[in-house]
Amino acid sequence: MLKLNGLFKKSTGPHVVILMYHRIAQPISDVWDTAVSPQNFEQHLQHLQKLGNVVPLSLITDSIYAGQLNGNNIAITFDDGYTDNFTIARPLLEQYGLPATFFITAGNHKNIKEYWWDDLERTILFTERLPQRFLMSISNEEVDFDIKNEVDLTPKIRARHCGWHASVQPPPTQRALLYYHLWSKLKLLSYDEQYLILNKIKKWAKVDIEKNNENKIMSVDELKQLSENNLFTIGAHTATHAALGHHGPDLQKSELTENIDFLQQITDYKIDLVAYPYGSYNGNTLMLAYELGLLGGFTTEAEPIQQSISPFKIGRFQVKDMNGSRFQRQLASWRH
Ligand SMILES: [Zn+2]
Repeated sequence: MLKLNGLFKKSTGPHVVILMYHRIAQPISDVWDTAVSPQNFEQHLQHLQKLGNVVPLSLITDSIYAGQLNGNNIAITFDDGYTDNFTIARPLLEQYGLPATFFITAGNHKNIKEYWWDDLERTILFTERLPQRFLMSISNEEVDFDIKNEVDLTPKIRARHCGWHASVQPPPTQRALLYYHLWSKLKLLSYDEQYLILNKIKKWAKVDIEKNNENKIMSVDELKQLSENNLFTIGAHTATHAALGHHGPDLQKSELTENIDFLQQITDYKIDLVAYPYGSYNGNTLMLAYELGLLGGFTTEAEPIQQSISPFKIGRFQVKDMNGSRFQRQLASWRH
């Protein structure tokens, strides 16, 4: 009997699966595995179109409330609102007739041209020459770091940075170690603190503080155009990409309300879905999402959707850069 259990894997699927993309691009480095090449993305869409069961995300939240989850359904989401979502993903999604939801970081007060993590990645991993010693006080910690013999960016160090994937590999260089440490600290801070420290870091690295438009974010006009197509839905992703679970209820509330109000003005419809930046939330976040009249909250926990799930803790699977056949196998394993 024990042997038989080992031989026959019990099938429990299919399950509802929500896919999470960020960028459709080929950047020189992709430390957090957030970029999928346009060629590979098109192959994903070809497979998804063949399956024929990609639905709008709101249909999934509606069916959770109705107690009628259809295990066949798949939804596509994008986080962060990079320009390539508009220029590359949008026309491909239109071509294949597939719906998608875009979770957008935006607000009235901050004009984000580039996310701090992209700026930090370029500054620490790709600046040609850095001072050897890094010494800075960051949120009550004295960060004192020696980059040793990596002052000059050699082709070898550069190649190691281009191939580094931080979720599966330890930092491969001293510079990468420094980047990772700074990333972990900055992630937990408020927007104002992040940019204050980022500017200090760029000053230390002697790079142009104003040079911050290499990983562009969608403009208001692009966002408006995107929202006008019925295939697409815009969702909330906070005003400044705050790690909600690490902040108090007041900051969480202003991050969400400012973002929702801003997006409602642009789209002219009610924003009722939110994705928590970095997948970070706590009890306050869930309560706030409910109180603000949202209908669904999405995490970054890689899990299929069960009928019993809380509509404010819906998991998603991050799709990495892979070709169509690998994607097909990956998706099948997520669904079953
Ligand atoms: Zn995000």
